[in-house]
Amino acid sequence: MKRTLMRPDGLPDSLSTPVVTPLMPSVVYASTSPDELDSQYEGRAQGYTYAREGHPNADVLARQINRLEGCDDGLVVGSGMAAVTAALMGLTRAGDHVLGGDQLYGRSLRLMREDLPRLGIETSLADPTNVDAFRAAVRPNTKLVLLEIVSNPTLRIADIDGIAELCRDKGILLVLDNTFTTPKAVQAFDHGADVVLHSVTKLLAGHADVTLGWVGAKDPEIMQKMRIFAVTTGMTPSPFDCWLAERGMYTFDLRFDRTQDTARRLADHLATAPGVKRVLYPTRPDHPDAARAQSVLQGQGCNIVSFELDGGRAQANAFAEAAKGIAFAPTLGDVGTTLSHAASSSHRALTPEQRAALGITEGFFRVSVGLEDPDALIACFDDGLAAARKA
Ligand SMILES: *Cc1c(COP(=O)(O)O)cnc(C)c1O
Repeated sequence: MKRTLMRPDGLPDSLSTPVVTPLMPSVVYASTSPDELDSQYEGRAQGYTYAREGHPNADVLARQINRLEGCDDGLVVGSGMAAVTAALMGLTRAGDHVLGGDQLYGRSLRLMREDLPRLGIETSLADPTNVDAFRAAVRPNTKLVLLEIVSNPTLRIADIDGIAELCRDKGILLVLDNTFTTPKAVQAFDHGADVVLHSVTKLLAGHADVTLGWVGAKDPEIMQKMRIFAVTTGMTPSPFDCWLAERGMYTFDLRFDRTQDTARRLADHLATAPGVKRVLYPTRPDHPDAARAQSVLQGQGCNIVSFELDGGRAQANAFAEAAKGIAFAPTLGDVGTTLSHAASSSHRALTPEQRAALGITEGFFRVSVGLEDPDALIACFDDGLAAARKA
């Protein structure tokens, strides 16, 4: 007899169930009959059909993020930028105007400046720390506002409550990118957001080994528009990435507490260290938006510290080379501390004058603090500073 394999028609029986979510990479799901398929499509029964339309690992992860954000419905997509795109393009049409904060994530800025206008959607940017600037930028056709609460890399704090009120008055959808702040520091829906989104790649997944996003809304109609757009344009996440991110999320709360404690210590240390011109950290009294940081973040900080070295590119090179053990890499939210230099990465497309207007000089670094021992980490920074002073 020829021995051949067929797919199994089910899993081995077990009265007990796994405590860890199984990884389910199946692209297709089999039904027993056309009638059964009808009942799924007609919403009488829940069932998966094809992974681009949804799969269990994405849904398990989405539910965990929904819980943290306090929202019944959210969708996991293939990247943070997919989440931004699902909101901006899923909820607007040609002729609408989209208003954004002027220090958004680089690719969000590019979407605003290049891609939406190409499709007939007007866009403009305004300073989110100044609600009057935002009010002046609103147009009769403004449909949506995109905000990040803590700007990158200068850590300015948006006037979220002022802008939320403005949006409410004018019937404008408020979309909040809560990546930096996380649901632990900011319950974005409570501040009046209609849509909240994340780059799950960063603090939520937390290990720099997956690229994912999440977007959620409390209004089912808004959610449905974003979901349909995301599915149609193929923003589907990988089941394995969802599985890894779910695993990472169970330590999110602990990681956030630990990294912000270390970040505060590092900020205080750098503030008095020779060779450091200034330090930016939301809970420090010398932060330019200190009072607002206190009220918006409710005493929480973040895992990001930015600082400026005395000197220019030579000092920046010496610092990055000598701060051994700290990855010089432009991401944030990893278990390991990473260092990024805006002038040569995220803000390299700007002219030196445009960068200077934002306070980004050649000596400006952003640190995403990880889980290392705080004393050992501070010692690495001291090595870098000593080398920079000699350069
Ligand atoms: C990284 C990031 C994004 C984009 O997320 P990806 O997962 O890299 O696509 C969007 N917004 C903010 C604030 C980010 O930091």
